[in-house]
Amino acid sequence: MFYRSQLMAQYGIQAVFSDKHGGVSKGTFASLNIGCNLGDKPEYVEKNMALLCQAAQMPRPHQAAQAHGVEVLYCDGAAQYHQAQADILLASNTATAVGVRTADCLPILLADVQQGIVAAVHAGWRGSVAHVVVVAVHAMLAKGAHVDNMLASFGPHIGECCFEVSLEVGGLLHHASKGKALLLREGKWFADLAKVNMSQLLRQGFSIQQIEVSKTCTVCSSQPAYFSYRRDCGKTGRQIAMIVAP
Ligand SMILES: [Zn+2]
Repeated sequence: MFYRSQLMAQYGIQAVFSDKHGGVSKGTFASLNIGCNLGDKPEYVEKNMALLCQAAQMPRPHQAAQAHGVEVLYCDGAAQYHQAQADILLASNTATAVGVRTADCLPILLADVQQGIVAAVHAGWRGSVAHVVVVAVHAMLAKGAHVDNMLASFGPHIGECCFEVSLEVGGLLHHASKGKALLLREGKWFADLAKVNMSQLLRQGFSIQQIEVSKTCTVCSSQPAYFSYRRDCGKTGRQIAMIVAP
């Protein structure tokens, strides 16, 4: 159903990444689909979120319409599904949770363990090219966070094993990572989204010890399995990465 970030847990921060098991959705959405407006029954999505939050013992997360951009949404009060487009959700009030949905894109959870400021970031290739994680860090700094007190946890995403990219996309990621993102295999280019975002965090002053990276590929891993947009040709559900301000 989910795993917890061990790095965040060491500092008393609840950060959770769901997988596709343990919910009530059927067919292509089986079973723990968190994505709305994809064709799944709304009551199933609602039930899945309730089951996940109960199992993880976390409050409902704020969510937003995601657009592969760098907009920041500051969340407070009762959880809601915001109509606003935002790929960075930030919270600093105790017990306020934020989440982003993914199916191959890289989910990143950030926390300042001293100030109690947290963020959920949706980083696909477009977001990574736009330095979405850097925008998120700067938004947290503006709220009083400090890089030395921050942690980052990268969740399951399409790995460099499966993320074949065009020369155009590869070139953009190569530039966004200062040359850390690409591998050439049998004449094809593959990109590593985690390395792109890690290189961006390191250039913001993060140390390697402050960053935890899931090695699980959403496309080819089966234990546990994840929803994968690429593997399932666009007809699939979404997992969620969520974090709560301590
Ligand atoms: Zn893979």
